[in-house]
Amino acid sequence: MSRDGKPVLVAGGGWAGLSAAVHLAARGVPVHLVEAARQLGGRARRVRLGELAVDNGQHLLIGAYHATLDLLEQIGVPGEALLRTPLQLDVLAGPRHALQLRAPHLPAPFHLLLALWRARGLTRHDRRRALAFGRFLQGRRGELADDDSVAELLRAQGQTPATVRLLWEPLCLATLNTPLARASARVFARVLYDALFRARRDSDLLFARRDLGALLPDPAMAFIEHHGGRITLGRRVTGLRIARNRLQAVEMDGETIDAPRAILAVSPEQCLALCRHHAPLSALADGLARLDSQPICTVYLQYPQATRLPRPAIGMVGGLCQWLFDRRHAGQAGLMAAVISAEGPHMAMDNAELGEAVGAEIARAHPHWPAPHAVRVIREKRATFACVRGSDTLRPASATPVRGLYLAGDFTATGYPATLEGAVRSGRVAARHILENLQEDTP
Ligand SMILES: Cc1cc2nc3c(=O)[nH]c(=O)nc-3n(C[C@H](O)[C@H](O)[C@H](O)COP(=O)(O)OP(=O)(O)OC[C@H]3O[C@@H](n4cnc5c(N)ncnc54)[C@H](O)[C@@H]3O)c2cc1C
Repeated sequence: MSRDGKPVLVAGGGWAGLSAAVHLAARGVPVHLVEAARQLGGRARRVRLGELAVDNGQHLLIGAYHATLDLLEQIGVPGEALLRTPLQLDVLAGPRHALQLRAPHLPAPFHLLLALWRARGLTRHDRRRALAFGRFLQGRRGELADDDSVAELLRAQGQTPATVRLLWEPLCLATLNTPLARASARVFARVLYDALFRARRDSDLLFARRDLGALLPDPAMAFIEHHGGRITLGRRVTGLRIARNRLQAVEMDGETIDAPRAILAVSPEQCLALCRHHAPLSALADGLARLDSQPICTVYLQYPQATRLPRPAIGMVGGLCQWLFDRRHAGQAGLMAAVISAEGPHMAMDNAELGEAVGAEIARAHPHWPAPHAVRVIREKRATFACVRGSDTLRPASATPVRGLYLAGDFTATGYPATLEGAVRSGRVAARHILENLQEDTP
């Protein structure tokens, strides 16, 4: 506990801010979390779709999300809240099964190497090249000296058009949300290595059995309040008061609140707006101003309840839709979520056109399905920062040059792309800084 007893102000109630607040509250540090929206969760929040509670965008977690899984356990979320399946990839091109990859029950990385070797839909040459790439990543432990684009990396590693189209491009879009030609090879290599080469369970796919709001924000809120923390919804942090390189206070819609310690866990755009006018934060703001963003569209399609996919999710190539999720596992039989990551021609379509185009692609892939009776498109224009080559150099560290002020969020220098895991880790890092500097940061 600090000498002044003032709560740590956490601005932003996305997964980063919640992670920070839980971490602090669990250690007896008073926290006050302020969220601009009327609900918690940020980009991974609950959205109402008629009677149904769905997600702001369909999300997938993987076994390598250790910080997220630890956090869920800490706030009392039972393991059954996530459906865990071993790594399995099924990719359709129209109605045709273009790729089928199954990881056998072997220790990493053999589960992956054997999965690649047995992959159906790839020629012997394709599989040899994919295995060679796997060995390259393993030899470097996922750390690359140069940051080329993923397209250049795959070319240099002799990846065939089939492996690029059916495997690496879908994985790059799903993890970095950035087109191959611009995506950072360094981050891609790190993500592949961490997910696929360390431990078999890290590559498991985890599907939420409840909406995202019920998965983390609701129980995190209960945990924070139970541990004496305070949560204010519907109020925005509008400014920072800094003097002699020390945080003094934050402003909230005209009100000034004494706050010698704060964590900004807001979006990169909001972080830039709050930091840009303060000289000690100008270098950090310059980097943020150059950080670009990428969209994600989720199209929810309601079919009759009996409609189902053979797996919780399948890949699709050759059209707009990249992944199709069956929400049956979340108790929503017949509801499908089609995901389109990153920029593309679909961003020029209006919602009705996009919904129709995606519905038509699904009908080609599943000719026996009836037409959906409801379609809803959710677009997040700034879903994630663009994880392009060199973007790591633009991402700010958690500790800032201003005493008492720390940053959290998926865009901070986590080394990972914009993911739930990056957000949760960043919150934990910021909370640890607060704990380490509790006395020094007290004016
Ligand atoms: C459609 C979509 C699909 C995705 N799919 C996946 C996936 O499958 N797997 C995965 O791991 N990740 C996925 N992501 C990424 C993941 O959702 C994000 O990385 C993560 O939610 C970011 O959390 P955050 O807390 O860093 O930021 P945010 O969620 O943006 O939280 C910031 C919060 O701050 C609040 N705020 C902003 N300004 C202020 C202010 N001035 N004062 C107070 N509060 C403020 C905002 O309202 C928001 O709640 C996806 C993202 C989207 C949009």
